[in-house]
Amino acid sequence: MILRTIGLTKRFGGLTAVDRLHLAVESGEVRAIIGPNGSGKTTLFNLLSRLTSPTAGRIEFRGRDITHLPPHRVAHLGLARSFQITSVFPELSVFENVRVAVQARRTTLNFWRAADALADVSERAEALLAQLGMTERRHAPAGALSHGEQRYLDIGLALASEPLLLLLDEPTAGMSPKETADVARFIGGLRGQVTILLVEHDMDVVMSIATRVTVLHQGRIIADGSPAEIARHRDVRAVYLGDAGA
Ligand code: ADP
Ligand code: MG
Repeated sequence: MILRTIGLTKRFGGLTAVDRLHLAVESGEVRAIIGPNGSGKTTLFNLLSRLTSPTAGRIEFRGRDITHLPPHRVAHLGLARSFQITSVFPELSVFENVRVAVQARRTTLNFWRAADALADVSERAEALLAQLGMTERRHAPAGALSHGEQRYLDIGLALASEPLLLLLDEPTAGMSPKETADVARFIGGLRGQVTILLVEHDMDVVMSIATRVTVLHQGRIIADGSPAEIARHRDVRAVYLGDAGA
């Protein structure tokens, strides 16, 4: 098990955003977290990446208690999240963005072997660029990319640190159908490389790439199972699909 929460709780004044959550994620999963707006999905991600502290409960990552670790320590243990464009430098080229992101990780590991480290950084950046399918866009300033492409690039930057667990909060929000399909295919292709926790509203995306689905409602898990099980789950249809108007 790569990630586990035990009774994880976050209250904002009188509102309980995350309510005694017991979540267990196995290594290799693409776990979708779905639920109506306000059900606590983003708060859960903020807790896991340690951007906010829980009111109660515990978080274990790779068997270690990370409940009180600072965010950079959690990142070093291999937990990354995509920040929706904010890590993209608009004035740098696509390739420079990838290279900087790779270097941010590598220089701290290889600082005593600068020449090797630089070769290694370029190699890794090229590989990541190819994986993203953005080799032909390498010289484009990142700021000139479409909104969807920038978000796509941002996921790539999150991968530069070679995380073990990647948190993606609504990666396809605001994307065109084609961009959504591209991102879904890319995320699906990461299976086996990195464990993924994905908040996603597009049920077609969820059904096509998730290996398991957890449904939140008012900060609690109301269902958990395979995509097929979730699709026919009564409470889920009532709560989630009802709310989404689908
Ligand atoms: P989701 O991502 O599922 O839409 P959120 O985690 O963003 O849900 O929000 C869960 C609940 O917590 C909502 O009722 C929201 O208004 C509330 N909430 C989230 N962040 C804060 C905050 N910083 N202060 C007060 N209430 C918050
Ligand atoms: Mg949210």
